[in-house]
Amino acid sequence: MKRSEFSPNGSAVENLIRQTLKKCHSPVMIIRKSLLRKQYERFRIHLPKVTPYYAIKANPHPEIVKTFLRLGANFDVASANEMNLVLSLGAHPDRMIFANTIKSAEDLQAAYRRRVRLMTFDNEPELYKIAKHAPGSRVIVRIKVENIGSIVELSLKFGADAEHAVFLLRKAKGLGLRPEGVSFHVGSQCSNVENYVHALEVAAQIFREAKQEGLHLSILDIGGGFPIRHTDQDKQPVFEIMARKIRAEMSRLFDKKTKFIAEPGRFLVGPAGILVTQVIGRTFRNNKNYYYLNDGIYGDFSGIVFDHCKYELKTLRRGQRFLSTVAGPTCDSLDTISLSEELPELDVGSIVYVKNIGAYSSASAVQSFNGFAPAKIILVD
Ligand SMILES: *Cc1c(COP(=O)(O)O)cnc(C)c1O
Repeated sequence: MKRSEFSPNGSAVENLIRQTLKKCHSPVMIIRKSLLRKQYERFRIHLPKVTPYYAIKANPHPEIVKTFLRLGANFDVASANEMNLVLSLGAHPDRMIFANTIKSAEDLQAAYRRRVRLMTFDNEPELYKIAKHAPGSRVIVRIKVENIGSIVELSLKFGADAEHAVFLLRKAKGLGLRPEGVSFHVGSQCSNVENYVHALEVAAQIFREAKQEGLHLSILDIGGGFPIRHTDQDKQPVFEIMARKIRAEMSRLFDKKTKFIAEPGRFLVGPAGILVTQVIGRTFRNNKNYYYLNDGIYGDFSGIVFDHCKYELKTLRRGQRFLSTVAGPTCDSLDTISLSEELPELDVGSIVYVKNIGAYSSASAVQSFNGFAPAKIILVD
């Protein structure tokens, strides 16, 4: 859309929302492809030696995957379902890393059949499983690193102790696998660059130790975690500043021939998403305006629970603001989006929207987050 097509009253985003609602009902998640491309370019420009593997769990919509595929990205998949999706859209199996350190036997067999060879692990039983179901795979040991200040902690659940890494890599080799590198994840929405710096130092030490033991490692996977601005008040993007430091540390600590990869999720897709909802009911209780939206915690606001995210609710209304509660449509009181939002007076039909909500929102609202389907219901007598 050209700038001139926008009405003078209201931002480009507000106009985009009005245009969209002429064509479809709310709730609707608008994904701006221009921003997918912009984020991808930002990543490439500021970390030029790092090959991005888009972590599709952040948003597996096929059009998003296709957009990154066309841009030349590789992919981080965590289950056979995610793998199948990316393959079905035309990605070559070499462009994928199976980056879940815990993989079911069935999923490993699927990876083997489909020639997805690169995968991460962080424990010895997993190696036996990989050797059995996906023999000869190329494996990367994921280590536990500091997640200080990151909004979503990942080292609570994943990562081998760094001091066991070389033992595990040797073990992999003994089982006929191909030990190729080290990976880590500093926690999602990480704005503390020291987490990366520290992790790079630990990884470099493992590379050195491995070399002494006759194992040549060639891949360093720096994971995801790269932060985005969630609200207009957030400070200017820190990504560029962090990237500069990460670049410097990578060249200081690693051999020129090292192949660097990363698994960005949120960073690539978060800024592209605008969620548009409408008020379906309103009341006054507890001395506050209560607004009920047609989307909530069980839907695209699922990130409030799963992503520990505080979204910025915006409206097209101007005027005096009042303390308000905003809730979702379900009959569950957990389905409350905010207890203390300063909002102008809204009516049934008023639009409430959120920017920068493209990652971990609709993705964790669906039944099969990360490609894992819930239990099937069977009825018996
Ligand atoms: C979730 C996840 C990612 C993506 O993390 P972001 O913080 O969204 O960049 C990357 N790698 C692994 C293994 C993950 O689990």
